[in-house]
Amino acid sequence: MKRNKSFSGTPFYLVATPIGNLEEFSPRAVNVLRSVDFICAEDTRTSAVLLNHFGIKKELISVHKFNEQSKLELILNKLKNGEKGAFISDAGYPLISDPGHPLVKALIANDFSVSVINGPSALLPALIGSALDTETFTFIGFLKGNNKDVLNTLKRYKSYKDTLIIYEAPHRVVKTIATIYTVFAERKLVIARELSKLHEEYIYTSLAEFSANPPTDLKGEIVLVIEGNKDEENNDLADLLDKVELLISNENMSVKKATSVVALLYNVSKNKLYNAYLKR
Ligand code: SAM
Repeated sequence: MKRNKSFSGTPFYLVATPIGNLEEFSPRAVNVLRSVDFICAEDTRTSAVLLNHFGIKKELISVHKFNEQSKLELILNKLKNGEKGAFISDAGYPLISDPGHPLVKALIANDFSVSVINGPSALLPALIGSALDTETFTFIGFLKGNNKDVLNTLKRYKSYKDTLIIYEAPHRVVKTIATIYTVFAERKLVIARELSKLHEEYIYTSLAEFSANPPTDLKGEIVLVIEGNKDEENNDLADLLDKVELLISNENMSVKKATSVVALLYNVSKNKLYNAYLKR
């Protein structure tokens, strides 16, 4: 067990930055960045605009997903020499679909403490403005990989009852929603666009309605918020059918045998399961 009190020494700061309106950058965030010796930034040119706006002039170290491993030693050495540091990404929280995770792991492993300076992120405003269930939610972030990877990821989340949150680039959004529709079938969909900016918009629709007639003007930054799976009976049935499928493909069982085994194990009607499998 390791208990790090953030302020028993000087922590390394993880600072959220505005996703739109600069007034969302808190006085605390500004003061913290003024107090450190160096700032690690995902894109030093992007961050320079923000920092200049707030009159913050510090040594900037570029730390992005392609070099973050190789910068660890430099940053740890600076901290060991008593320098104070912070990390910011281009917008929102670092580490949330942004770099920083290897650095935080290395800081903790090397007995430095961290402190997170709260601020804007696209995830929560998208969720709470969506009017979808906020009780439990799952943040998927970007759907990564090729088409097959995306399909596999979606299949993994298909039975989740939680509201699902996905980040997407505007040029891919129509295709992505079409793919989600093929896997999830009909569900409520909310598109949160340009949050905290002039053209902020929430589009309340459904996967079917959107796919039938996708708007052509979806520019800017986009978060997709998708209703969780509310179809409990079918959901459970789909899980059982997946198990039947596994027994057939991995154990070479007949459909009859596999449905009988799963029905017995999960206490459901074997005829219902058998018929559902045939109709699949
Ligand atoms: N670190 C950021 C955060 O905390 O939300 C996320 C960075 S990720 C590289 C960029 C993605 O976040 C965008 O493609 C979009 O899905 C979402 N995003 C960021 N800013 C946004 C905004 N103002 N409105 C809507 N979505 C936004």
